[in-house]
Amino acid sequence: MQTLFLGPKQIGEAAGVIRRGGLLVFPTETVYGLGASAWDAEACRAIFTAKGRPADNPLIVHIATPALLGEVAAAVPGQARRLFDAFSPGPLTIILPRSPRIPDVVTAGLDTVGVRIPSHPVARSLLKAVGVPVAAPSANRSGRPSPTDFAAAVAQMRGRVDAILDGGECEHGLESTILRVVGRQVTVLREGAITREMIAGVLGDVPIGASADTGAAGGAAGGAEAAGDPETAGGAGVRSPAHRRPAEAPGMRHTHYRPEARVVTVTAGELPAALRRLEGIRFGYIGVTPLLGDCTTRPAVSVLASDLEDYARRLYRSFYLFDAAGCDVIVAELPASAGIGRALRDRLRRAAG
Ligand code: AMP
Ligand code: MG
Repeated sequence: MQTLFLGPKQIGEAAGVIRRGGLLVFPTETVYGLGASAWDAEACRAIFTAKGRPADNPLIVHIATPALLGEVAAAVPGQARRLFDAFSPGPLTIILPRSPRIPDVVTAGLDTVGVRIPSHPVARSLLKAVGVPVAAPSANRSGRPSPTDFAAAVAQMRGRVDAILDGGECEHGLESTILRVVGRQVTVLREGAITREMIAGVLGDVPIGASADTGAAGGAAGGAEAAGDPETAGGAGVRSPAHRRPAEAPGMRHTHYRPEARVVTVTAGELPAALRRLEGIRFGYIGVTPLLGDCTTRPAVSVLASDLEDYARRLYRSFYLFDAAGCDVIVAELPASAGIGRALRDRLRRAAG
């Protein structure tokens, strides 16, 4: 398939691709998405083919404004409305009862649908121009990290989609926070840039649960264990018996991307000793802590982030960088389990396998 490359101003052309039943890779503030009209079951099926994504892993539906929630969801609980009001447009997905209009292929047959209102200006213009909800998972081939810039999106999806729309580097670099809201009960299914602390700030004393299905538990340790964005590579052989249970976040059962290099997570205090053990090994380092004089063993490639947000933004790109540089090991600083640190710990844990 010939893939057209579009600049951020070519919104009309990009919208036309989706309206004609095609596949479009487009930028969002989290990662690049692989979108099709959510009303078009055939186009949505083509998303799964382009990604090599298992059919039991549902897609998130993207809309331009909260006014369109009623088109995709059968009901919007009060807590969900409050959270959308507080954090949308932005990197928040809420699982809602599904409108009968949403095709089965989008929800993997579930009676719920994940809905997000992205804030990236190019994504916003696109959604407005398309005029229909857009179903879109991350634009990676299954088993690869989500693309967080145009070059990575092109590398993964050229020849598999009708067009790729350039929107520069993604601001957050990690997939959206996913919440399930049932009545007053709010559960974090995937950690992201909308943190538990931010959610708690809106919900007040409403407890925030964590999904048993994802291995997440409430409390301090739980956040670090919450689900990321596992995609596939698994196949039937690695599915647990839980596979047959109705799932809360079905995609989370699939194996996540792991770089070629072995990922080792290390707290700041452990860095000098951990690096000494890698003497003679070609390794990369990513973290926010500079490697000072006490770190006598030096990495072949180093990505020093200015803060945890910057770390999150650059994480997936650094995986490509380290693999391309032929590193055998990736040393990734393990942040504390608070704020965006929880989402980072979750993705690092998955990358480390
Ligand atoms: P991606 O867009 O690639 O980050 O993948 C979307 C993820 O959202 C999936 O892997 C699921 O875990 C989750 N998801 C989407 N729709 C639902 C739903 N209806 N119920 C639970 N989880 C969902
Ligand atoms: Mg994904």
